[in-house]
Amino acid sequence: MEQACKYHPLEPGTYFCAICETNSCDQCVDDSRYNPVPRCFQCNRQLDTLGPGNIEPFWRRLQQSFRYPLATQSLVFITVLSILSSVAIYLPFPLLIYLALFGTVFKYCLSCLSHTADGYMKPPDVTEAYEGGFKKMLVLILMLFITGLLVHLSDTYMGPAMGGLTALLVTLSFPAIIINYAVSDNMFESLNPVNIIRLVNSIGLPYGLILGFILIMSGSIAVLYQLVLWVPSSLDSVFLYAVTFYYLIVLHHLMGYMVFQYQSALGFSARLQDGSNKRRGSQAIAMAKISTLIKEADFVEATQLFQEQLQVNGDNLLLNTRFFEFLLATNKQDVITAFLPKYFELLETHGRSDMISSSYKRLKLRMPEFEATEAPLKWVISQACFAQNDHQTVIKLLHGIHKKHPDFKDLVPALSMLADALDEYPKYAEHAAACRKMIVRMNNHQSS
Ligand SMILES: [Zn+2]
Ligand SMILES: [Zn+2]
Repeated sequence: MEQACKYHPLEPGTYFCAICETNSCDQCVDDSRYNPVPRCFQCNRQLDTLGPGNIEPFWRRLQQSFRYPLATQSLVFITVLSILSSVAIYLPFPLLIYLALFGTVFKYCLSCLSHTADGYMKPPDVTEAYEGGFKKMLVLILMLFITGLLVHLSDTYMGPAMGGLTALLVTLSFPAIIINYAVSDNMFESLNPVNIIRLVNSIGLPYGLILGFILIMSGSIAVLYQLVLWVPSSLDSVFLYAVTFYYLIVLHHLMGYMVFQYQSALGFSARLQDGSNKRRGSQAIAMAKISTLIKEADFVEATQLFQEQLQVNGDNLLLNTRFFEFLLATNKQDVITAFLPKYFELLETHGRSDMISSSYKRLKLRMPEFEATEAPLKWVISQACFAQNDHQTVIKLLHGIHKKHPDFKDLVPALSMLADALDEYPKYAEHAAACRKMIVRMNNHQSS
């Protein structure tokens, strides 16, 4: 893969940092809600978008695209609008009604286009079509009028050859004009030849596919009209309108998908909105940053970030465990010494004593010189190890505890556990007996 994420070599890079000269995937960027544009985890610069990564080209999605309008709302919309369009001719002011109806369809098509361009692969709510359709229709008519005038003027003043060429160019440009209009909602910007050329140039050859597609669609609608003329029935016009509206929605969805596919070339950024990319919480973002820092071997900053996170989410077991694993892997004995009592206490409250004994064992393997110095920590580890029948560790930890920590509040249970552990070894029988004597003395002392 040419643009893989630096930290996930199998993921496509979706952002680029010009300072660090690295590609990152969606995971490896700071996209917290304070950053409208994601920032680089390493240098905090705003990132350039590389597009959504592996995105299926629109010509491979024809089948899905034809299924696009088959949502209940869209089907009801198509049916109702088709019936209304069929009866409009019998109503007063049919022209105005037609303008309003077709405007509603056009408005809905534009919503489908911009919605798809934003990454939504399901049709938008039909309420999007209710308002402002009439105005959109007038804009469309105005755009047709302006482009028609352009053809007429060049035909009149520059001869039929130029007129024909202008007509061809206008026809070829029309999908681009519609796309620009759906995205910008500005008639003059969408008619601006610079914007048209930029769009066609960014999309390149596939733009021709859309043109071909429009040709096929209008061809098939024309055939349908012919057929219906041969086999007349009262439902003809409803059927014809329905097919036409259906095709129009598919076409606008395809154009929107084209924008989605070429978004980085067109200078905007969207992601598939299929529910797979919900906003991450600050903790998830911090964990992602930590993982890039670790891969950059920036352990000091990673430690700092871990500690910041632990201050807010101190009782998150997963976070604590990841910090422990990190400290173990990076051999940070001073930090681990400070961190361990809280971590083991947390494991205990979560009922994960098994993890205490195994973590302690791994710690001793990795850092043999590590010693638990505080009595409460020794006691927590001993209890966990005793439960796992690791009597040797219990003896090592609790041996001499009455001398080193005479004021420890759990001294009696600790000594009694030490005695029980000593019992496992016949050679320590004397020690165990001495231990028990001490307990008796302490109990007498306490009760007297
Ligand atoms: Zn990544
Ligand atoms: Zn950077």
